[in-house]
Amino acid sequence: AFGDFLTKRMKKSMEKNIKKSTLTDENIQETLREIRLALLEADVNVEVVKELISKIKEKTVGEYIQEGVTSHQQMLKIVHEELIDILGTEKAPLNLSKKPSVVMMVGLQGSGKTTSSSKLAHYLAKKEAKKPLLVGLDIYRPGAIDQLVELGNKNNIPVFEQGKQSPLKTAKQALEFAEKNGHDVVILDTAGRLQIDKDLMNELNDLRKITSPNETLLVVDGMIGQEIINVTNEFNNQLKLTGVIVTKLDGDARGGATLSIRYMTKLPIKFIGEGEGVSALAPFYPKRMADRILGMGDIETLFEKVVDNIDERSMQKTMKRMFMGQFDLEDLRNQLVQVSKMGNIGGIMKMMPNAKISDNQISDAQRKLVVFSILMDSMTLKERREPKLLKSLTRKNRIISGSGRTEKELNELINSFEKGKKQVLEMAKMMKSGRMPGMPG
Ligand code: GDP
Repeated sequence: AFGDFLTKRMKKSMEKNIKKSTLTDENIQETLREIRLALLEADVNVEVVKELISKIKEKTVGEYIQEGVTSHQQMLKIVHEELIDILGTEKAPLNLSKKPSVVMMVGLQGSGKTTSSSKLAHYLAKKEAKKPLLVGLDIYRPGAIDQLVELGNKNNIPVFEQGKQSPLKTAKQALEFAEKNGHDVVILDTAGRLQIDKDLMNELNDLRKITSPNETLLVVDGMIGQEIINVTNEFNNQLKLTGVIVTKLDGDARGGATLSIRYMTKLPIKFIGEGEGVSALAPFYPKRMADRILGMGDIETLFEKVVDNIDERSMQKTMKRMFMGQFDLEDLRNQLVQVSKMGNIGGIMKMMPNAKISDNQISDAQRKLVVFSILMDSMTLKERREPKLLKSLTRKNRIISGSGRTEKELNELINSFEKGKKQVLEMAKMMKSGRMPGMPG
């Protein structure tokens, strides 16, 4: 829901800071910082965040808090408006004024170009009563044309293809075919490469000259995050795009990078892909995206869980020891106990923003959590406090047989611990040099 996460963050800092009836430079400062962090966590581009914050500030300072609303509600409304503003306010419809109109789809391999081409054809047929023709021009990726034909057949959209014949020739024939058979929209599924290369751009430019498309749409994978901006700019420099389709927004992608496209490239997002199925393509609505970005997934639930379950004193003790550069297996064991108190580790890992964690990684982490705990239970406190004692073979063998685990697992634990300890020492150094705020000093 809109603003779930941000709302709570804002509410708290505003209740603390705003006691007067006017929003001022000072009393909104902390709230602005919260908003800034939340946006960065959502993968919004730094420049866009700066712009947003300065606009929000401009609109907020000096405002009287209106009757019947709380200060944070009023501010949230402004944030929402500014997000929508930066996303482009209006829905950007396709220009399909020619007969037949040509929509050229371009993008990197794997971005979802072929899938989006058939989704778009389906959308235009169903929602706009068009008679689209799909054209298979990707003669390089093996199976690309077959894939298009299959998708077309499945959804009753005719597909024009000439196998491996030159894409330029095929495109020309496709336009003739479309005119003769009364197709009003021709969708060109062009070739993609793994990277932007000159040959590809030359071919696409030639295609553009021959077919003069009404729309040249870049298909980008929403999962690539900030990289979207570079890819879009490069394609746009070469091909003069008219818009962007962002795919795979059904996955973990939070949409923050999507938010940045309009501001950073000046191109409208025309559609978004939200699944593999043929109907999983929707026109882009800035308001919906703003809601989604402010929603911030389940991070708030995560915070609640952490606060509920972590034994603060034991945490503080561990933190203090870490700060002193001390970290042993006993500390690790205490941490693992805290983590398992929080319940299912997979659920916790999945709630992290921006985390792309596979089920394999989760079950691996879950397994390690259990195995490591068992192994450490079989150690004496002295061994946990002085892990170097574990170099002794007799001790090792005793722990292995006592725990019923393997030598490999014990070594895995020791290695993970050594690695973790190094990181802790790094952190301790950073804390001491004052580069990490808010730590005990
Ligand atoms: P192309 O090389 O650009 O033509 O890429 P494809 O159209 O073959 O898509 C690559 C993969 O991404 C396929 O497995 C698609 O099913 C998948 N895909 C495309 N769009 C979406 C989307 O919006 N959501 C999800 N989850 N998968 C998608």
